[in-house]
Amino acid sequence: MTHVIDGNAVADRIRDDVQNCVTALEDEGVTPGLATVLMSDDPASETYVSMKQRACDELGIEGIHRKLEPEASADDLLETVIELDGDPTVHGILLQMPVPDHVDGTNALRHVDPLKDVDGFHPENVGRLVAGDPRYKPCTPHGIQKLLEAADVDTDGSDVVIVGRSEIVGKPIANLLIQKAPGGNATVTVCHSRTNALAEKTRQADIVVAAAGVPELVDGSMIGAGAVVIDVGVNRIDAETEKGYELVGDVEFDSAREKASVITPVPGGVGPMTIAMLLYNTVAAASIQTGVPVDL
Ligand code: NDP
Repeated sequence: MTHVIDGNAVADRIRDDVQNCVTALEDEGVTPGLATVLMSDDPASETYVSMKQRACDELGIEGIHRKLEPEASADDLLETVIELDGDPTVHGILLQMPVPDHVDGTNALRHVDPLKDVDGFHPENVGRLVAGDPRYKPCTPHGIQKLLEAADVDTDGSDVVIVGRSEIVGKPIANLLIQKAPGGNATVTVCHSRTNALAEKTRQADIVVAAAGVPELVDGSMIGAGAVVIDVGVNRIDAETEKGYELVGDVEFDSAREKASVITPVPGGVGPMTIAMLLYNTVAAASIQTGVPVDL
């Protein structure tokens, strides 16, 4: 019987832990604050930011929102980031990507104070992760690690194949899983669009993490019997629904489920974890910046 991981339930447990941390911080007079910066009219980005702000409200984290018009200049964005860096009520800063083409998003991320970089994208935090001493683990990869733990999947000594090498998912999950630490100790293969014989590689894996952004790229024929399948993909495909689309993952769920021992659905798998881990990093950031200990 395949175990379908309920990402919403795991995320709710993380939120409960975060809620306890918020209370502990409040008891010491600290209200954790998360600033979101949006420089786009893209409806999906607006939805992500409003979901993050709503999640903050629910847990008593102060949500601060800065909206810049897409026509604003790169300097306007840097000024906003630098102002938030200097605001002691802001413990976490999230720059919603993508930013418009005329703005260098990588440069903007470098201006976020590394102590407030709750996405874990600043080069200092990326370096610490690679060096085995993470400060803030990037949210989606950290969420995947928590899902594996919740499903009692032992990564120690396992063969993992990751499909995707992006800076926000593929590379950091690879870095987490090869750490000499609990939740790591795996042997990791990172695949991408130039990888030869992808299916041969995924079929050998104990754990497949699909993060390619290609609808249903990984089907059951690419999964070995009893493997664990983590589907990170969120893809909108046209469908005759009220919204005119439906969300599918990077895994063809029905055929993969027949082979897998454990699998995440889309939606309701990795997705809810990303916001939960952002809240987690925000209370961790508030604790680091104020010296008030929290139990995470
Ligand atoms: P990117 O587009 O940045 O990266 C995709 C990666 O997949 C690239 O490395 C690319 O290779 C590789 N790839 C693309 N096509 C293939 C293929 N046919 N075979 C093998 N590799 C391939 O995507 P992200 O990492 O940002 O996101 C991946 C997916 O995860 C998306 O669907 C996104 O929406 C979703 N996502 C979900 C989140 C959540 O919270 N659930 C959070 C973040 C992302 P190459 O480098 O050679 O181009």
